[in-house]
Amino acid sequence: MPIGRKDLLMGAGAAALAAGVGPAAMAQGQGQARAQGQAEDGAAPAQAPGFYRFRLGSRVVTLLHDGAGRRPNPTQGFVRNASPEQVAAALQAELMPTEHLDIVYTLTALETPEGVVLFDTGTGGQLGATAGQAPANLRAAGHDPAQVRMVVMTHFHGDHISGLTDAENRPLFPQATIVVPKAEWDFWMDDGQAGRAPEAMRNAFALVRRKFEPYRERIRQIDGAAEVAPGIRAVPTPGHTPGHTSYLLTDGGAQAMVLGDVTNRPELNLRNPGWHLVFDMDAEQAEATRRRILDRVASDRIRCIGYHFPFPANGYVAKEGEGYRYIPALWRGTLEA
Ligand SMILES: [Zn+2]
Repeated sequence: MPIGRKDLLMGAGAAALAAGVGPAAMAQGQGQARAQGQAEDGAAPAQAPGFYRFRLGSRVVTLLHDGAGRRPNPTQGFVRNASPEQVAAALQAELMPTEHLDIVYTLTALETPEGVVLFDTGTGGQLGATAGQAPANLRAAGHDPAQVRMVVMTHFHGDHISGLTDAENRPLFPQATIVVPKAEWDFWMDDGQAGRAPEAMRNAFALVRRKFEPYRERIRQIDGAAEVAPGIRAVPTPGHTPGHTSYLLTDGGAQAMVLGDVTNRPELNLRNPGWHLVFDMDAEQAEATRRRILDRVASDRIRCIGYHFPFPANGYVAKEGEGYRYIPALWRGTLEA
């Protein structure tokens, strides 16, 4: 295992990102921008590789920045059960723009004695101009994607599964077993569901079938709260999708929860756990799941990794008022496991 120091390790890119430099420009014109020390045309400056490591007991967790997608007009229709004024107020309270919302993608890689286990796969460069950096960042962190032993899926939305294969649908993790929640598989692979799907969801069904096709012989379904591997346990968290699943990572007394999309950006969806985002397929169930899981990680003080949290996308959750407050782990001190 290419594990480095015993204390917390941090990529230079993570430091730059954590210091508040935008992640958006990592994809394009890096060499030139780096040589000049700044980007052209007003784009954000280039970054060093975006990965961030922390220790979980005797294991190392590496978080991989994949980039971000920009959603225009987040006050219009993004939250189904809040007014444009309420959403604008929530964004402004966090000093975020109201014209657009950058939805960040962060993958989790866990080093185990059997090899690297990856949680979700990012966009594969096929969604959003600045996303798709996760494989390069995995390499920069010292791991060959071709050697990944296991890829564990939280759910089958495009920003989580597109990175399974490249644009020509060649597998990017040819050695990996692909672990999928059975409920998620059953829903998306059901021909009846696919046939009844509204026009807007047809592409999503087609994408799922296409992305898993090259892995047909390597799929392992898990049912409910199964043990995926020693130190990795599934935690069913349905609602965002029918089989959405989080994963509790443990080693000794150390714990971390890979939340997946239990919440979207914490500034909106942790503060307002009752908000029904447009991506939640069963919004009522998603809300009940969100409150249950957030109560658990808050009361047990479990470190959380949120797929759409701002990089490096890990921290703690505290109950506050009607909702929850996100406390980035870095704010608690940098040498802590
Ligand atoms: Zn997502």
